[in-house]
Amino acid sequence: MADRRDHLARVRSLVARHAPPRVAILGCGFTGAAAAVALAEAARGPLAITIVDRDRSRGGGLAYGRARAGELLNVRARDLSILAGRPGDFADWMARLTGDGGDAEAQAAIADSFAPRALFANYVRRRLDEAAAARPEVSLETVEREARDISPAPGGGFAVALDLGPALHADAAILATGYDDPRPRFGRCPHAPIPAQELARARRVALVGSGLTMADVLLRLRAEGCEAEITVISRRALVPRPHAEMAARPPALQTPAGVRLAELVRDLRAACARAEAEGRPWQGEVNRLRPHAQAIWQALSAADRARFLRHLRPFWDAHRHRLPPVQHARLAAELARPRTRLRAGRVLEPPATPPAACGSPGAARGRPRRWRSTSRSTARATAPTSRRPCPRR
Ligand SMILES: Cc1cc2nc3c(=O)[nH]c(=O)nc-3n(C[C@H](O)[C@H](O)[C@H](O)COP(=O)(O)OP(=O)(O)OC[C@H]3O[C@@H](n4cnc5c(N)ncnc54)[C@H](O)[C@@H]3O)c2cc1C
Repeated sequence: MADRRDHLARVRSLVARHAPPRVAILGCGFTGAAAAVALAEAARGPLAITIVDRDRSRGGGLAYGRARAGELLNVRARDLSILAGRPGDFADWMARLTGDGGDAEAQAAIADSFAPRALFANYVRRRLDEAAAARPEVSLETVEREARDISPAPGGGFAVALDLGPALHADAAILATGYDDPRPRFGRCPHAPIPAQELARARRVALVGSGLTMADVLLRLRAEGCEAEITVISRRALVPRPHAEMAARPPALQTPAGVRLAELVRDLRAACARAEAEGRPWQGEVNRLRPHAQAIWQALSAADRARFLRHLRPFWDAHRHRLPPVQHARLAAELARPRTRLRAGRVLEPPATPPAACGSPGAARGRPRRWRSTSRSTARATAPTSRRPCPRR
């Protein structure tokens, strides 16, 4: 028996010595897929890539893999690409798909459009397959498992423990598991489907948060036939602004206008007002600032950062994380309906329901901004609407 084990160990080490280097990529959303494409393109010799993802979406991830029909990207097609050296690749791919590759006008319209998220997932998947097919010496395998742990392996490299089956050994590992978040303190995961029965029973629904995910959830609830009274609650009751009808792309700022928050805000507001007075979209002025966001943040004093987080962030988010015009119009129409209310307030006390019964009916105590007293809002279902995923149970 001992002889047999020794023999097996010798065979394994021989195979390992002659096997191509293996890279494990944990997570196959956009980031994992982009890493695999880049690795396949950069490989100088044989390489084995193993992608581990608990979902089947392969390249779609949370953002695009589970998208419903009609849910659009919030970035124009021309600004999306999985290939580092080819900006605009997604728009080119779309143009070839629709047969508009040779028509400059049609191509420009495609580049300016907000495509369905599900189509973007197809594009990512296609580029992933092509990257593997283009390099015969690169093998790409996908393992549909959950990675539970990763640790340095005794003989070098890493051991990735999976939810089922033997651990995976790799010379290098890339973590691309997206944002991970503790379970929401209350309510239901905004990205999880709601059973039709529950949807039909719901009379009052509270959506906590009023950003892009709220827009997704609200429009999805209505599209799926939910006629409940829906209250959207957020600190300032600000909803995402629309993108400009035509792409607004003034040249980027050479250097930020200043590094004091008050000056930055004053300059940005003045620039937006000037743009509107001259018939240009204000969105361009926000776009101009975006490439400098990191540098500005690093340069701000601690007091200015705290001020931004406390007072300005909801305004920045609403103007920076925008909706495609068509989706913005749908949201505005929905918010104008009597059965949908937008309230400024803070949830002081989540529903009594423990997190284990996530999504069950509950009552949230909130303090509306413009009211003095604390009021109680009861809802059949509550959903915190953040862009972050809820982990699997
Ligand atoms: C609903 C939604 C819409 C969005 N729309 C846009 C948009 O239009 N434009 C834009 O630029 N950005 C958008 N974003 C932001 C988006 O999250 C990023 O652009 C990007 O797609 C994130 O990709 P990711 O691969 O890092 O993460 P994810 O897409 O979250 O992928 C992570 C992957 O890792 C897997 N995973 C996690 N943990 C494990 C584990 N332990 N074991 C195995 N697998 C695991 C998950 O199953 C998932 O497939 C959106 C985000 C959301 C949530």
